[in-house]
Amino acid sequence: MAPAPTESPTPAPAPNSAALATPAPATPSPATGTPAPATATPAPSSPPASAAEPLPRVVTAAESRPVYELDAGRKVVAITVDDGPDPRYTPAVLALLDQYGIRASFFLIGENANAHPDLVREVAARGHHIANHSWSHPDLSGLSAAKVRDELGRTSELLGRLTGRAPTWFRAPGGGWSPTVLKVGAELGMRPMAWSVDPQDWATPGTDVITKRLEKELRPGAIVLTHDGGGDRSQTVAALKTFLPLLIDSGYRFTAPPG
Ligand SMILES: [Zn+2]
Repeated sequence: MAPAPTESPTPAPAPNSAALATPAPATPSPATGTPAPATATPAPSSPPASAAEPLPRVVTAAESRPVYELDAGRKVVAITVDDGPDPRYTPAVLALLDQYGIRASFFLIGENANAHPDLVREVAARGHHIANHSWSHPDLSGLSAAKVRDELGRTSELLGRLTGRAPTWFRAPGGGWSPTVLKVGAELGMRPMAWSVDPQDWATPGTDVITKRLEKELRPGAIVLTHDGGGDRSQTVAALKTFLPLLIDSGYRFTAPPG
């Protein structure tokens, strides 16, 4: 099957994949424990070229409201994948997306990203959109502004360090949006993304049920919520195996949010 073209909802400045391909700042690889061979040339001791932290993207008031759907006038869909990365399921989801040439958005949990940094880099290197899903997946709407800032800020810092690009979108766990959550997210330069299609795959209702819910609720402009972490996600992976080719056969194009 031919790979599906990826569309941008707006005249995109630069494809996200290009930006995401920016190499992360050089960090010592934990895998290579051997010390560097001594050379006559002293190692440069200058700080990284861009020592100054880039300012967060300015989020307007209109942009600080959760986005539930994309342009319903076009046959586009955004696949979003939450709660990873998880070494048990994320590679399988990546392989499926590769197989069908689909670019998706991964809303990563900071704790999981911290445990599996190579998987975060892998998701970004394959051109998918990396977004912030808090550090420890609490109901952010029940937290103080300081705690929300800690949950979102730590995660953005980590994802930015791992991928070379700070997230510009976030999603409150369980859709726990509150004025405080939206305000802090905006201050950190992120727009809130909700969803319009929820097959409740997290409750493991069975592959067929997940697939049928996806098919039934799908419509142009949908933002589809799925999970590759947080529990046994083998049913989700199996449902995507059926659902993704069906989307392509139905003429859908795939989009990730603009950076
Ligand atoms: Zn979640």
